[in-house]
Amino acid sequence: MESGIPKNGNFAHLPDRLRGLEDLAENLWWSWNPQARMLFKMLDRQAWKESGHNPDLMLRQLPADTLISAAADPNYMRHYNLVMYHFNRYINEPWPWTAHEKTEAKSPIAYFSAEFGLHHSLPFFAGGLGFLAGDHLKECSDLGVPIVGIGFMYPAGYLRQIINRDGWQDNHTQQLDREAASINRVIDEKGDQVRVTVPFINHRPVEAAIWKVSVGRISLLLMDTDIEQNDPAFRSISHQLYAGNQEKRLLQEIVLGIGGSRVLQAMGTRCGMLHLNEGHAAFALLEKIRELVEQGDDFASARQKVRQMSLFTTHTPVAAGHDVFPFELIEKYFKTYRPELDLGKEEFMDLGRHPDKPDQGFNMTVLALRLSGKSNAVSRKHGEVTRSMWQSLWPEKTEKQVPIDHVTNGVHLASWIEPKIRLLYNKYFGEGWYNAHDNPAIWEFIEEIPDRELWQTHYWLKLKLIDYIRHKSRNRWSSGDADPSQVAGMGTMLDPSVLTLGFARRFTTYKRPDLIFSDLGRLKKMLHHPWRPIQIIFAGKSHPDDAKGHELIHRIFEFARSSELGGRVAFVENYNEQLSQYMVHGVDVWLNNPVPPMEASGTSGMKAALNGVPHLSIPDGWWLEGFTGKNGWSFGSAAEKQDRNKEDAEQLYGLLENDIIPKYYQADEDGVPHQWVGIMKETIKSCAPLFSARRMIKEYITKFYTESR
Ligand SMILES: *Cc1c(COP(=O)(O)O)cnc(C)c1O
Repeated sequence: MESGIPKNGNFAHLPDRLRGLEDLAENLWWSWNPQARMLFKMLDRQAWKESGHNPDLMLRQLPADTLISAAADPNYMRHYNLVMYHFNRYINEPWPWTAHEKTEAKSPIAYFSAEFGLHHSLPFFAGGLGFLAGDHLKECSDLGVPIVGIGFMYPAGYLRQIINRDGWQDNHTQQLDREAASINRVIDEKGDQVRVTVPFINHRPVEAAIWKVSVGRISLLLMDTDIEQNDPAFRSISHQLYAGNQEKRLLQEIVLGIGGSRVLQAMGTRCGMLHLNEGHAAFALLEKIRELVEQGDDFASARQKVRQMSLFTTHTPVAAGHDVFPFELIEKYFKTYRPELDLGKEEFMDLGRHPDKPDQGFNMTVLALRLSGKSNAVSRKHGEVTRSMWQSLWPEKTEKQVPIDHVTNGVHLASWIEPKIRLLYNKYFGEGWYNAHDNPAIWEFIEEIPDRELWQTHYWLKLKLIDYIRHKSRNRWSSGDADPSQVAGMGTMLDPSVLTLGFARRFTTYKRPDLIFSDLGRLKKMLHHPWRPIQIIFAGKSHPDDAKGHELIHRIFEFARSSELGGRVAFVENYNEQLSQYMVHGVDVWLNNPVPPMEASGTSGMKAALNGVPHLSIPDGWWLEGFTGKNGWSFGSAAEKQDRNKEDAEQLYGLLENDIIPKYYQADEDGVPHQWVGIMKETIKSCAPLFSARRMIKEYITKFYTESR
């Protein structure tokens, strides 16, 4: 079966000498290789920007003349040849991991996830879970771990956030142009797009068309139900991430787990292992059992086989993060499916029944924990919390014995290190540092970077961030539908010389975005200080159904636009991967203040740390493992407490007033705040190797991927 067929020959105008650009545009490898991005940017800076850094779209739109003159430009061709050499070598060289391990490329790991965050031009993510999945695939590609991603092609993405005149989040969508993105139809011999059939009870079966995203050496296969073969009601199943009612959600999960398994079959991929990223795809475990029963196993032995080949990763201690469906709804869709498993109704329902809440419904996390041989949480603390949370599934075991391990999350370095910072590391760390970046010894060389150089690079990134925010606000102003206080609240008055805190995450109660406003008088003193002021940049969306989250956004936006806070607080619209990049590169301090123990891991602080932005955080999630006493700040107690806001805020203010602000503004005679740069360096060297996706994937390999095969 062929895939990656060019879309209707839209690249016909590419001169032969530049044919490779098409392959490059269709493989996300370009997104984490600065030289490849540069190759597109060199063609036409403005077009690159206007395409939203989407090479597929840009190449389609560029006039043939531009391409012909690039092909005739020796400078361009020099860069082109070098990038193509690296790209082809990366794609074609033997997979480094398989070369020396017993994993076989022929039986890859199937990695199921409801979201994948890869690049802002592919809106298949809502937040942290998606980026974790995207970084997982990218790092598996770099390490050569055979894995195949399974998910959804959501043509309407998640949500586009607009803050309206009244300061509330409006939920809009933005339709993806499937023909102009780094995504391709999977085509059969006849030239038709490959489809799979998902059986639905009491209905006509639903079909899903298969798309493919090339993530370096890895394929991500995505399902799309919005095709004419389906009834209108079912076309919308894959329309949007986490949208619709409970029934729609169940249909999505059936398509993800059961349809996803059939995608693998349709592609002729025999997987050696199933890895479920969160419980949404837990039906994949049932489908695997069903396949084995069909081949002659009884349920018990099929279940045992599936145990041996499955890993489940759970991501949140928040109750709403675990789907529970009414038993009647499950029965409606599984009535004719469960006999194929050789199960009666009660036996089937018991698989998803929570022992402490037997009547609550069918719990997807319970199902996943029961059927997977291995399970893990995403930080050390989250491991403890998770074992306690699900202990009743193992009544004969103590909490410590509950078989849920942990692998602390990490981020894909090449995707999150800003290119100018990466150049600095290239210059001082020596040849081949990137390939050894999970080795802490490499990072000791951070000391060799002159303070001035690191500081100036950081300052330049802060300028870029503020420039980007002002550009966004200017566009908003020019559109004519914003009033002055609105654009004032969006960051038009930000000042690059001022100590800048960044807070960007999903807006939901437990993350407490408004904590720093607890004592407005005290905060104002800091914001308005005549020679040592601070400013704060906020960004984040709230789930459309989260009314409290909407209120938090409103509250902060009202602060941001109020003249009383003097333009020193900004709320930037529509937090996505691009804004996230600018923010984690450009702010001075990354603020994080969830209510413990709700933050399973968190990853944005890791992204900031790689770029020398220290973390100012509650001791929760990854920070309990990351904080050394020298690489940032920790405030508040890790213990669970009621009514803690006041106390946490006091500690936050104290740190800012007595430690962070004075250190930041204490520049030496040469204009460089050496002590501050010292903290930046500690941040980089203590966090980059440990919280890299490379360390994470190697841990998945040794703990789970190798042993299970
Ligand atoms: C990294 C990232 C997240 C997740 O960060 P958290 O620290 O887990 O909140 C969410 N959204 C975007 C756009 C990101 O880049």
